Amino acid sequence: MTNDYFHVLLQPFMQPINEIFSVLNQPKNIVITFHQKPDADAMGSALGLYHFLKQAGHSVIVISPTNWAGFLSWMPGCKKVLDYEMQTVKATEALNSAELLFCLDFNTMDRTRNMAGMLANLNCTKILIDHHQQPQTEAFNYGISDVSKSSTSEMVYDFIMSSGQADKININVAECLYAGVMTDTGSFRFTSTTASVHRMVADLKDRGLEHSHIHENLFDNFLESRFRFFGHVLLNRMEVFYEYNTALIAIPQVDLIKFNVKTGDTEGLVNFPLSIHGIKLACIIIDRGDERKSSFRSKGGFDVNIFSRKYFNGGGHFNAAGGKNAEPLDEVVRKFKAAIKESEAQLSSY
Ligand code: 5GP
Ligand code: MN
Repeated sequence: MTNDYFHVLLQPFMQPINEIFSVLNQPKNIVITFHQKPDADAMGSALGLYHFLKQAGHSVIVISPTNWAGFLSWMPGCKKVLDYEMQTVKATEALNSAELLFCLDFNTMDRTRNMAGMLANLNCTKILIDHHQQPQTEAFNYGISDVSKSSTSEMVYDFIMSSGQADKININVAECLYAGVMTDTGSFRFTSTTASVHRMVADLKDRGLEHSHIHENLFDNFLESRFRFFGHVLLNRMEVFYEYNTALIAIPQVDLIKFNVKTGDTEGLVNFPLSIHGIKLACIIIDRGDERKSSFRSKGGFDVNIFSRKYFNGGGHFNAAGGKNAEPLDEVVRKFKAAIKESEAQLSSY
């Protein structure tokens, strides 16, 4: 027998998530984490799970790999979340004493940026709950990966329901999970919005959720400068390639400085070019200084997960993906133009 054989025996593939319930019968030291620059689904699923596990007597710490958008700070528990980059000592201490590590809303460890090496080397029990394609299942002891799910928040709701402890869905849990499912479904618009999603929301409403507060907290809380910035980039930085049913916004770093753009301010920007009549692929590429970060959105049959993997070192979902490049902005734009040319058959055939 080869070493490979023993290696496989020592690293069994991810066990079903429900098998973790017996481990949770005793109070544990638990860390919950998610992808860098968390969105409302990453933060909402983590804090929803945090409030659930706390009630069951566990000691729970949520760690974000990076900072996060100000529009998430209303979430109950958000102020206690550690930022790994800013509070590295505290976060490292928490990770070293964790018995269980929940990894939410990401598929591969490299989505946790500077934390990735440390997470990979931790010896604790690792649990994945995620809905992205091609998960690194061999890195986790237990978990569930389901690309058909609208959001990780919906998956955390399912997890709580199957634990038999639905009574622990208090208002804090409900608000956090609602924020995640609502934003990841584009306010219940995308095809991932199943009847089960609506049943989940109905249940949260029955438990006291006031959903309109959540929409206001997330969408009506921006500074004027964000909209001046949107105006500027839509007027001056957007190119439309009608022959490829594609629109691109490429944003140089000077724009971010001029309009004082903060983490989260560019969230949703990519949906503007996508809503132009006939556009099937929309992209924004932002020069963040250390890297060029791209976001892709598509309508219908164009798979941006594959597109982003192939050209932009990224991934995500069929209709929403992202990537990153080390090359200068001009070069990434050139790459994008060449990529849509190469994808002409799929893009122009609508
Ligand atoms: P966004 O454009 O909102 O940043 O990301 C859209 C989707 O693509 C999200 O589900 C996100 O997790 C995924 N995504 C964004 N950036 C990357 C990346 O650099 N690598 C991978 N694998 N996925 C990404
Ligand atoms: Mn998500």
